[in-house]
Amino acid sequence: MAAKDEDLLKCGFCHASVGKEAVVAMNRPWHSEHFLCSECNQPIRQTYQIANNNPFCINCFAMKHNSRCAGCNEVLPEKCLKAMDKHWHPHCFVCSLCRRPLPNGEYYLIDNQPYDLDCHWAKRLEKRNHMQQEMHVRYHEDL
Ligand SMILES: [Zn+2]
Ligand SMILES: [Zn+2]
Ligand SMILES: [Zn+2]
Ligand SMILES: [Zn+2]
Repeated sequence: MAAKDEDLLKCGFCHASVGKEAVVAMNRPWHSEHFLCSECNQPIRQTYQIANNNPFCINCFAMKHNSRCAGCNEVLPEKCLKAMDKHWHPHCFVCSLCRRPLPNGEYYLIDNQPYDLDCHWAKRLEKRNHMQQEMHVRYHEDL
């Protein structure tokens, strides 16, 4: 029994007994400088995340597992916007025409591009004119 208790007080990294400063993580104690991120090998001081039974610091975990913003390609924080099957910073998800952020992520899709309400009308009009022109051209070519 005593041996088992001692075991529990051994650092998961160096297997020396931990002092009073032990960090308890993943059901075992660690020296605070020995609880390392599996990616950057830096001691994890605060919160950690587990992936494949390995601990990761928040930064590395985010790098590996969080999505990147489809607008700026930066790694996203937990809270982000999901639109068009992609993830975005709210400020990166913008109208394709006026480049203003889309309020509440509400958008109108034309040719796979997001537009806000005003621009979507403008775009639809432009598209219609364009189509009419194309038809006109074809009509002449066909003759
Ligand atoms: Zn240790
Ligand atoms: Zn790390
Ligand atoms: Zn972004
Ligand atoms: Zn717009």
